[in-house]
Amino acid sequence: MTDALQIFDLGAQRERLDGRLEAAAARVLRHGRFINGPEVQQFEAALAEHAGVAHAVGCGNGTDALVLALKALGIGPGDAVLVPDFTFVATAEAVVLVGATPVFVDVDPVTCLLDPEQIPQGIAVARDAGLVPRAIMPVDLFGQPADYPRLREAAGDLIVVSDCAQGYGATLKGRSIAQWADITCTSFFPTKPLGAAGDGGAVLTDDPEVEATLRSLRAHGGGSNKYDNVRIGTNSRLDTIQAALLLEKLPILEDEIAVRARNAAELTRLLGNRVRTPVGVPGADSAWALYTVQTDRRDDLQAGLKAMGIGSGVYYAVPQSRQPAYRDYPRAGGCANARRLSQRVLSLPCHAYLTHADLQRIADAVQEIVGDQAAAE
Ligand SMILES: *Cc1c(COP(=O)(O)O)cnc(C)c1O
Repeated sequence: MTDALQIFDLGAQRERLDGRLEAAAARVLRHGRFINGPEVQQFEAALAEHAGVAHAVGCGNGTDALVLALKALGIGPGDAVLVPDFTFVATAEAVVLVGATPVFVDVDPVTCLLDPEQIPQGIAVARDAGLVPRAIMPVDLFGQPADYPRLREAAGDLIVVSDCAQGYGATLKGRSIAQWADITCTSFFPTKPLGAAGDGGAVLTDDPEVEATLRSLRAHGGGSNKYDNVRIGTNSRLDTIQAALLLEKLPILEDEIAVRARNAAELTRLLGNRVRTPVGVPGADSAWALYTVQTDRRDDLQAGLKAMGIGSGVYYAVPQSRQPAYRDYPRAGGCANARRLSQRVLSLPCHAYLTHADLQRIADAVQEIVGDQAAAE
């Protein structure tokens, strides 16, 4: 039998880096500065430069990045943050963790991204609930940039906080996500576009005051030193060893994204109209964290692919506002698009280490399972 194809292949990436990850980890083990070692500052500087912003502040994971960003902006009890209903749990979770209230807003049925046209309703729902709308939190889901120009217009003077956990490396009209949002949060979870070998995250900002607050918050609310506590903070650091690995991976990110984009274009061509293939907003270049199709026969397709040794994933099977822990938070309307997507999406393998034969095999398998009929609307 042919080898199984998985949605991610971290082993192939490690081989390509040819011992550089092992050498980087060994250097940290030898110098022993595991907390706030020199690689942390080096990586923060490299990341800020890569994203085209003034500051990058490392932290423990992507969820903490969101929490730290909201805290640094002074968002808390009585405030509302508009979040898409179709996303990973951490988006709304971070809002609740700072004491604010998430307001779920529907997504576009084609791009799966926060719909700018739904923002006014989200703001109205927040006000009706007696909350002060403070921010919107677009998600660059699957690596696809959210529609920042239209979202900003719809949001008026609300702050735009990007949940860019899946989108680091994506661009919109040639600019990085961090150059579109007011503050940008990302994750270095191993399977994200820029992944570590464990947990990690970062917040990107041009604002020096926000940067200083983030640095204080991640180190127990420290002032001039960590034994001088000027605010309530937490412990959320990017480990030196992860920073050292990320310094080796950042230089190949652009190339990996370019290959994934080529693979995505080819897979889209091969799949034809048997399923609904991914579509971004105008001017978007996705980071291709995931290649996600839509079909009414999602469960058949997933089971059939599995039988043929092809991995796939459902991101996400339940809209956030319908999860037991989130049911009682406000939602703008029925969020019918999020609900429908949760029944139709399936992410297929489309990473940077697939061959053309692999892509052909995936497309042939899809054809065999769903047949030649056009994707049902
Ligand atoms: C992965 C992810 C996060 C959280 O990142 P962690 O590093 O796992 O905490 C937040 N939002 C989205 C959309 C994600 O995909």
